[in-house]
Amino acid sequence: MVRIGAHVDQDDPLGQAAERGAEVVQFFLGDPQGWKGPVLPATADAIRASDVDVYIHAPYVINVATANNRIRIPSRKLLAAHLEAAAALGAKGLVVHGGHVGKDDDPQVGFDNWRKVFERMECPIPVLIENTAGGGNAMARKLDRIARLWDALDGFDVGFCLDTCHAHAGGEDLADVVDRVKAITGRIDLIHCNDSRDAFGSGADRHANLGKGTIDPELIVAVCRAAGAPIVVETPGPGQAADIAFLRERLG
Ligand SMILES: [Zn+2]
Repeated sequence: MVRIGAHVDQDDPLGQAAERGAEVVQFFLGDPQGWKGPVLPATADAIRASDVDVYIHAPYVINVATANNRIRIPSRKLLAAHLEAAAALGAKGLVVHGGHVGKDDDPQVGFDNWRKVFERMECPIPVLIENTAGGGNAMARKLDRIARLWDALDGFDVGFCLDTCHAHAGGEDLADVVDRVKAITGRIDLIHCNDSRDAFGSGADRHANLGKGTIDPELIVAVCRAAGAPIVVETPGPGQAADIAFLRERLG
């Protein structure tokens, strides 16, 4: 039976898991828009001891692909610090966005920069690279780019997180996306199961509760079923319990 949960506040992940009926939680270890290092929750011991599975989401500011070394170098440091902290918390993986290069840059620079990350960083737990909805010259919006990224990362043990909102808004058809992703990466480690407020191909990243956006909820269920990976809803909080219950009913 696939495990299902939610992205929750870092203050009380286990309390929020219980409120939502979540078997999996994902949270940040600090300000997702900031450069400060990770901080473990006060309840870290309880989190380690619990049977709730934990994933950590790295800050959004991280962009290890960029040619700008004033962003790339601190990004690498922040990613490494988060990986260590997530491992200390017993997390199953660290989710990080694919990032992007400047609009006039050759995307190969970004793929090469990603390779350097794994050449230099020990990974006690898997890094899960997540597809993004938009971003100019993104590394992991379209599958042709993800294929080039995986070519660059050949030989390293790198995981993949598929976000349904990002795939839809990014212009990738959900009907066969799992097969197409697995043909490239060989794996999907985690599903970010979100509806999208915006249209197919819009490039916008605004999540909605399941059935409240522009994606057919049965198509979302089909993606989850095909992927067979743990599921985290990153939807507006008040509807998360219902989103989890809906998925459990359909996938049970
Ligand atoms: Zn996501």
